[in-house]
Amino acid sequence: MGSTERIGNVAKRVAKWARAGHQMVVVPSAMSGETNRLLALAKELAPAKPTADYSRELDMLAATGEQASSALLAIALQAEGLESVSYAGWQVPIRTNSAYTKARIESIDDKRVRADLANGKVVIVTGFQGMDEQGNITTLGRGGSDTSAVAVAAAMKAQECLIYTDVDGVYTTDPRVVPEARRMTNISFEEMLEMASLGSKVLQIRSVEFAGKYRVPLRVLSSFTPWDIPLEEEATSGTLITFEEDENMEQAIVSGIAFNRDEAKISVLGVPDTPGIAYQILGPIAEANIDVDVIIQNLSKDGKTDFSFTVHRNDYAKAIDLLKDQVMDNLGSKEIVGDAKICKVSIVGIGMRSHVGVASRMFRVLSEEGINIQMISTSEIKTSVVIDEKYMELAVRALHKAFDLDQVPADTIAQS
Ligand code: ASP
Ligand code: MG
Repeated sequence: MGSTERIGNVAKRVAKWARAGHQMVVVPSAMSGETNRLLALAKELAPAKPTADYSRELDMLAATGEQASSALLAIALQAEGLESVSYAGWQVPIRTNSAYTKARIESIDDKRVRADLANGKVVIVTGFQGMDEQGNITTLGRGGSDTSAVAVAAAMKAQECLIYTDVDGVYTTDPRVVPEARRMTNISFEEMLEMASLGSKVLQIRSVEFAGKYRVPLRVLSSFTPWDIPLEEEATSGTLITFEEDENMEQAIVSGIAFNRDEAKISVLGVPDTPGIAYQILGPIAEANIDVDVIIQNLSKDGKTDFSFTVHRNDYAKAIDLLKDQVMDNLGSKEIVGDAKICKVSIVGIGMRSHVGVASRMFRVLSEEGINIQMISTSEIKTSVVIDEKYMELAVRALHKAFDLDQVPADTIAQS
């Protein structure tokens, strides 16, 4: 919601649903750009000081963005002639732990909201925020309104949770990289979880986890369609994240391709190939709260081996320093080398469970493009490769084509 005009349109859209007989709880995010604006103000006053921790006040500050948009939406709804009331997270309350700037929702009290719904009101609950046990305001991490919405839907046992966003659904891959990318009419929850964790930015990953845990049917749809399109059309638009695998549907083997440039690779060279080596290298990394993603250990030669892993780029320098300080000498490693110019490209699909040779087809496609694979990691429904960042777009395009994602699936053709 970028302007009062847009808030007015959201109100009209909500009114359309409410007048059709639906009970509605609406969870707004801040007006666009507002969270960035607020956090930038804090930065002006307190340029990064490594020792200072402003996180409590940052949450106090950032949470105001959602409070403003929620109140404005309630006003717009009332002006539309509907009864409506808005609540900040602490008023519901939405209880979270105390991890400022990345708090997790622990419980939601549904009494107040249910009472208002029973009285015919549209209830607005701020996204992105909650309150910890001591009554401090907390926020859920950037993009956290998605998670608030799903959590509220779970608490209310809603029929469906509609996420209105700036894209009109979940695509086979990012259309900015592959113009032929297609919107999926549905995607399984497990695939969505992989896509979100592997770099697709459509939904905050925690919101998908929440939807899975409480089996909340989730639909991602566009907030840019005119508010007055017919309800039936809106209700079936976008992408539905489903829990039941439809047996009648011809499953694509690969459903989507995700990628990210958020990681960096670190290699510890010439370490002894003995028990405990992975622990000696990654133990200190874990203790420093640094997440490790892809890991490989090479074949040993003369009792020595090379050990490589990836971390988030934000943690890259810290991880290297830590290894140089604490690990290198103990292990007798000669060298630690790093590469931040990598990317991870992944193919995702539940069809991979029942088909063999999918990963090797991926490797063939990459080799035909002359792209060197540096690392590989797999799970039941995905294969990821780490490659040179400069080949990312080429790899994504080639894979999208090779796995027929450019083509409209047969069952869709039959229906239309
Ligand atoms: N306003 C918050 C943010 O910008 C939460 C959200 O938009 O989901 O990250
Ligand atoms: Mg968002």
